[in-house]
Amino acid sequence: MTLENKLESVTKEMYGKDMAALTDKEAYYAVLQLCRQLMENSERIEGTKKVYYISAEFLIGRLLANNLLNLGIYDIVRDLLAAKGKSLGVLEELEPEPSLGNGGLGRLAACFLDSIAALGLPGDGIGLCYHFGLFKQVFEDRLQKAEKNSWIEPHSWLHRTDVTYDIHFGPHKVTSRLYDIDIAGYGQGINKLHLFDIESADERIVKKGIEFNKNNIRRNLTLFLYPDDSDVAGNLLRIAQEYFMSANAARLILQEMQEKNHDLNKLYEHAVIQINDTHPTMIIPELIRILTEEKGFSLDTAIDVVRKTCAYTNHTILAEALEKWPVKYLRKVVPQLVPIIKALDRKVRENYKKDAVQIIDSNKTVHMAHIDIHYGFSVNGVAAIHTDILKSTELHHFYEIYPGKFNNKTNGITFRRWLLSCNRELTALLTATIGDGYREDAAQLERLLEYKDDLAVLDKIAAIKKNKKSELAAYVKAKEGLELNENSIFDIQIKRLHEYKRQQMNALYIIHKYLEIKAGKIPATPLTFIFGAKAAPAYVIARDIIHLILVMQEIVNNDPDVSPHMTVLMVENYNVSYAEKLIPACDVSEQISLASKEASGTGNMKLMLNGAVTIGTSDGANVEIHELVGDENIYIFGEKAETVIRHYEKIKSGKPAYVARDYYKKSKVIRQAVDFIVGKQALKAGHKENLKRLYDELLNKDWFMTLLDLEDYIRVKDKMFADYEDEMKWKKMMLVNIAKAGFFSSDRTIAEYNRDIWRL
Ligand SMILES: *Cc1c(COP(=O)(O)O)cnc(C)c1O
Repeated sequence: MTLENKLESVTKEMYGKDMAALTDKEAYYAVLQLCRQLMENSERIEGTKKVYYISAEFLIGRLLANNLLNLGIYDIVRDLLAAKGKSLGVLEELEPEPSLGNGGLGRLAACFLDSIAALGLPGDGIGLCYHFGLFKQVFEDRLQKAEKNSWIEPHSWLHRTDVTYDIHFGPHKVTSRLYDIDIAGYGQGINKLHLFDIESADERIVKKGIEFNKNNIRRNLTLFLYPDDSDVAGNLLRIAQEYFMSANAARLILQEMQEKNHDLNKLYEHAVIQINDTHPTMIIPELIRILTEEKGFSLDTAIDVVRKTCAYTNHTILAEALEKWPVKYLRKVVPQLVPIIKALDRKVRENYKKDAVQIIDSNKTVHMAHIDIHYGFSVNGVAAIHTDILKSTELHHFYEIYPGKFNNKTNGITFRRWLLSCNRELTALLTATIGDGYREDAAQLERLLEYKDDLAVLDKIAAIKKNKKSELAAYVKAKEGLELNENSIFDIQIKRLHEYKRQQMNALYIIHKYLEIKAGKIPATPLTFIFGAKAAPAYVIARDIIHLILVMQEIVNNDPDVSPHMTVLMVENYNVSYAEKLIPACDVSEQISLASKEASGTGNMKLMLNGAVTIGTSDGANVEIHELVGDENIYIFGEKAETVIRHYEKIKSGKPAYVARDYYKKSKVIRQAVDFIVGKQALKAGHKENLKRLYDELLNKDWFMTLLDLEDYIRVKDKMFADYEDEMKWKKMMLVNIAKAGFFSSDRTIAEYNRDIWRL
């Protein structure tokens, strides 16, 4: 049957009508159904060994365009629809975005699934099917409000399977149900994303916003990703979620091994489990528990087998994110794991004396990462500088014990979504200029360097950027009701809201610019500052920073002296779909984290690939971007990681160290910007409580050292905007950034994981 016939038959079967007679939503469901059928009939990617990528988050984004592209039928389906008066682009917008992740870590997991399949490697994701996922962000009165984010419709990418398991929480039992999403590899077969849900989940218990009774796990276990953990009940719920994910994963993996008649003594020859951050750590003690209690293994043999099977990826050095659970909480939720964890702790204690490497510390708290490091065979960081910091500082004592376990895997992004799908114009130009070898082998993007002085190519790159800015402006007009100046510089900071990422520093720059324009210093080209970020609902200062940005949006955009020269916009509910519109339209990519704090970043990679120029600190993958593009194609500022780490060491040992107020006192520019936060104008547009709290935080604490780098940031950013006036120089920078982005393809990252860790 031709594709046209297939689409026709799906449409008739679902709606008894011709495509032309369907509503857009019905047409979307019909194309979804067609895709589902094609994937169901595709070959499963097979091999003797398989990777299981376990993660609390899979920020997969909308799947329609991506699946059509990976199945190789995007253009055909677009044309078939056009012939029926339907626009594929319009249908794409009707897909709700799955809300299964928070930020970079979850998006990485999604890019990895795409690349694993594209490389034809057998590998499935395992996670949870959250009904409302992460919250949906709305702004009210310039404050972030959290609402539940429903995304599962009657027709979706989820396949309900027959797989169910009994999962025990001490004396209580719940029944899980597996849902699968097919992952189509570009020109390859199918892998799966396995998402576990609970049969007894009850959406009706969610009351106002995202509030619900946290005590009843039979009803609430899979409702939300990262439920509020500011009280004991929230902690217990998170432990229950983590165990539920780990226990289901363990069951599923062992079941597959047994169906294939593999000897569990040789588990590691057929399976490798990649533990994405510490959330799935409990799979280690759970597997050991099952092997000893149900499969007749001795403890030592079980440990040996599990250790050879599990590998751990570390994503952060922020202390708050390295999970620790009190033994007594674990005993409440998963008493069956406690004896195993204690045995694992004892074995470590017998061999190693340093407090820093123990699993259970003197406060009877379990350090989840320590389980992963002792009882896995690989520990990897996600960018060169991050892995170096793990080795030399954060995990130094472990590195001394296990130097061979540590390795680096610099993150990557799938070019299918972040170039081919979100920027079809640039894709077409690249193909016309350097051929399409770069689609299979991203390193070939470097061929573009040969056109560095080719005016026609440079002009086309600039024209595409202009076009993408117009498209974004139209979208923003419709969605946010705000007019963007297409001829301005689009300066974009999009990422979770966190003090270490320093959106507050960008906000202070905006205040500074505002004051300059008021004083008559007009920028040569108008400036548009765009933010997208969700703050964790319990993270007070992060929400205050959003408030400040929204206050500046109000002040700047409504000031007739300033608004012709400058615009501020914080988009509502930043997510993958929004990212796909913002990224191709970006001129200036803001990557301004406090050096040493951003493990890698992947937004930086997506933006450079789409011709944005980076302003950033020497942090995470910015360091590698810098090395690739050279000094003349990036704007680096601020203190280096070593210096920052020394500041923190001094703070820890009680020596005089970084004092924000000293920077404030020394610099008039800093003073003016900081004081503006609690000045008359800001207080009129915003709330005193939030603004005063933020002001106090900056002056008295500033844990992430905003003021340390503010003056240098202003200097370098002004230089960057001045350079934008040199059109030729800027176009060349765009070209070099695109050409050098090949290294950041997640195909390269996954090939390295496979070469060094998985060996599939
Ligand atoms: C890529 C991506 C991120 C990660 O951005 P960073 O700048 O690396 O923190 C977060 N959210 C979404 C929606 C993304 O697509």
